[in-house]
Amino acid sequence: MSPIRVASIGAGPVGLTLARLLLNKPNVDFVGFESEKSRDARGQGGTLDLHPATGLATLKEAGLYDDFLERARFDGEELIICDKDLTKYVELSGSDENSSHGTPEIDRISLREMLLNCIETGFDLIVGAEGAGSKTCKLVSDQMPNYSGIFGISFEIPNAKETAPECYKLTNRGSLFSYTDGRAIMPQYLGDGSIKVGVYITQPRDWAENLLLDSHDLEATKKAILDEFEGWAPELLQSVRRGQNTEFCPIYMLPVGWLWENRPGVTLIGDAAHVMTPFAGQGVNLGMQDALMLSRAIVKGANSPISKDALSNEIKSFEKALFIRAKETATLTNDLMTMFFFSGPLRTVIEQIVLRKLTFCEKSLLQRAKYPLMAAFVYGSYTMFKLWH
Ligand SMILES: Cc1cc2nc3c(=O)[nH]c(=O)nc-3n(C[C@H](O)[C@H](O)[C@H](O)COP(=O)(O)OP(=O)(O)OC[C@H]3O[C@@H](n4cnc5c(N)ncnc54)[C@H](O)[C@@H]3O)c2cc1C
Repeated sequence: MSPIRVASIGAGPVGLTLARLLLNKPNVDFVGFESEKSRDARGQGGTLDLHPATGLATLKEAGLYDDFLERARFDGEELIICDKDLTKYVELSGSDENSSHGTPEIDRISLREMLLNCIETGFDLIVGAEGAGSKTCKLVSDQMPNYSGIFGISFEIPNAKETAPECYKLTNRGSLFSYTDGRAIMPQYLGDGSIKVGVYITQPRDWAENLLLDSHDLEATKKAILDEFEGWAPELLQSVRRGQNTEFCPIYMLPVGWLWENRPGVTLIGDAAHVMTPFAGQGVNLGMQDALMLSRAIVKGANSPISKDALSNEIKSFEKALFIRAKETATLTNDLMTMFFFSGPLRTVIEQIVLRKLTFCEKSLLQRAKYPLMAAFVYGSYTMFKLWH
C-alpha cells in the first residue's frame, strides 16, 4: 500500500500540532510549508490559555504535556475583568500546577517553539493551516473573513517590572481585561518579563487611515488612543503611555456557522477554518483540537486497505464534526464580543457574560438543570456587589 501524502500549509500552533501528531505514523508521509523564513522572522504575539478538553488534551495525545508543563505559566492564570475605573467584576488569582484553575497560560512564541522543536520535515491531502485569510481556503470557497467592527492596537512594555512598575503591579503577572463603552485595554504579562498591551476600540476599519496614523509613529498613535480613552483610570492609561513597538491589528472573523462544501484532497484547520475574535480566548484551543481530530482521521484512512477512498470519507466526517464544534465556539465568541463591546457598560451585562461563559461547556441535561440555581447565584452575588461598588 502506498503511503498517504499530506501537505499542511502554515506552521502556526495548529499546523505544527498536526505535524507532531502525524510524525512517524505508519502509511502517512507528511510535509509542512511555512511562508516565514525562520522561526523568529517576526514577533509571535501574546499569551494563550490552554483548556483541558481541547488544547491540553491534544498536547497529552501528542506526548508533549511534560514539555508544556516546563513552559506553562500557572501564575499567568491571574485574571481580572474590570471597567475603566478598575472596579473588579471578576478576579481569579494566579496559581501553581496543583492549584491550577485548569487553564494554564503559555506564551504563543513558546508554544510554537515547543512544537517546532519536535517535528521533521503531487499530495493526497492539502491541509490549509495558514490562519485568517488562508489561501488554501480559496480552493473550497470564496468566503473571506469580515471586519468585526473592532480595531486593535498592540504595544509591548519590555522588562515591565522595572520600566512600568504600576502596570506590572496591575497585572500581577497575569492578565487584566478592562472594558467600558465599546473600548478595552488589556495588559497581559508574558514569560520574558514584558507586558503585551492590547487596546481595542469600536471604530471603522479605516480608523487609522482616516487619522493619517502610521503604526511606526509611536507618539501620534499613543495620542490618538489616549484621546479615545479620556477619563479611564490613570494606571490603565499608563500602560499605553509606557508602550513601545505598536502594531495595528484590525480584528477579522468568519461568519458564525460558516462551512464549506467538501472538496476531495483539501481541508482546513485552525484560524483558516474558523477565525474568530479573541474575546472568548478559544481560537488556539479549538484549532489544536482540529489538529488532533484530523490526525486521527488521516491515520485511520491511511491504514485502511482502500486507503484513498477511506481517507476521503474520514475527512468528510472530520469536517462535519469540525463545523459543529466551530459553530458552538464561534457563537460563544460572538455573544461575548457583543456583550463586552456593543451592549453598554460592563456593569449592566456582567451577569450575562459570566453565565454565558460558565454554561458554554454544559451540554448534558443534568448540567443544564443546574442553570436556574447558577443564575440565581450569579445575579444574587452581583446585586450585593453592586450595592457596595
Ligand atoms: C490578540 C489575540 C489574542 C488571542 N488570545 C487567545 C487566547 O487567549 N486563547 C486562544 O485559544 N486563542 C487566542 N487567540 C487566537 C489564536 O491566536 C489563534 O486562534 C491561533 O494562533 C490560530 O493558530 P493557527 O496556527 O491556525 O494560525 P496562525 O497562528 O495565524 O498561524 C498561521 C501560520 O501560517 C503561516 N502562513 C500564512 N500564510 C502562509 C502561506 N501562504 N504559506 C505558508 N505559510 C503561511 C503564517 O506565517 C503562520 O506561521 C488570540 C488571537 C489574538 C489576535
